[in-house]
Amino acid sequence: MLELEQARELLLEMGIKTAADLLDAHLETAVKEETTYLTFLTGLLNCEKEERKRRSEETRIKLSRLPHHKTIQEFDFSFQPSIDPRQIKELSTLAFAARKENVILLGPPGVGKTHLSVALSIEALRGGMTVYYTTLPRLIADMKKAIMADKLERKLKTFLRPDILVIDEVGYMQLDRQAAEILFRIVSSRYETGSIILTSNKHFAGWGELMSDPVIATAMLDRLLHHAHVINIRGETYRLRGRAKAGFVSVPPAVINPALS
Ligand code: ADP
Ligand code: MG
Repeated sequence: MLELEQARELLLEMGIKTAADLLDAHLETAVKEETTYLTFLTGLLNCEKEERKRRSEETRIKLSRLPHHKTIQEFDFSFQPSIDPRQIKELSTLAFAARKENVILLGPPGVGKTHLSVALSIEALRGGMTVYYTTLPRLIADMKKAIMADKLERKLKTFLRPDILVIDEVGYMQLDRQAAEILFRIVSSRYETGSIILTSNKHFAGWGELMSDPVIATAMLDRLLHHAHVINIRGETYRLRGRAKAGFVSVPPAVINPALS
């Protein structure tokens, strides 16, 4: 008994907590089933490893600040024929993230840009990567606040450290000069060192105006698009599916959201 306590203490001391918790039960099973020392040890260590993996995933999911946890399996490709399911499947292997490439999802509201960004992020988190999700307005607000508080370098790490940075909703907010410089700094710092998944309702041609500075916009797009998978989604909003059938008049997304045109 004393020896069991000592073994448990040693495990705890070395931070092998799950094995410490399970030691008693595994010993009992080993005695009952007359397993070999090696089988006992492997079983105990496997439990420790699995629990660590689970906890790490849980922590990474929490830190990613994803708005929801929708998956690729939940995406109905038949509703959005402009998306090639093979391309999404290829992206979900995460080879793009290993190669530090970017994914750009373009299209009107409601066509699944956020859904697919989150779904790819979930795959990455399951694969052991780190992800940070933000919208462009939030990224700019966070960075401006950090600059005011003289904490710029610390805040920058939030956006530069993760394997994948998701910048959602580019295009709804007009950027002033400082905001454009902030976005440029983040995109160029991540260039060839970390992936960006970016969504926008505006095509690249409108980004000069969006960023109030065509020179910064061009320089930024140059880096963003150098190694990028661009997915152009043309289609109906999923939010209003079935409305036409139910007798509602179909309204083009551009009318619903003037930012589109
Ligand atoms: P966007 O970011 O392009 O505006 P979202 O990804 O937020 O659109 O999609 C709007 C809603 O419709 C979400 O609840 C999303 O899960 C759902 N959705 C969009 N497209 C599909 C699809 N093809 N299959 C299943 N759900 C979809
Ligand atoms: Mg969205």
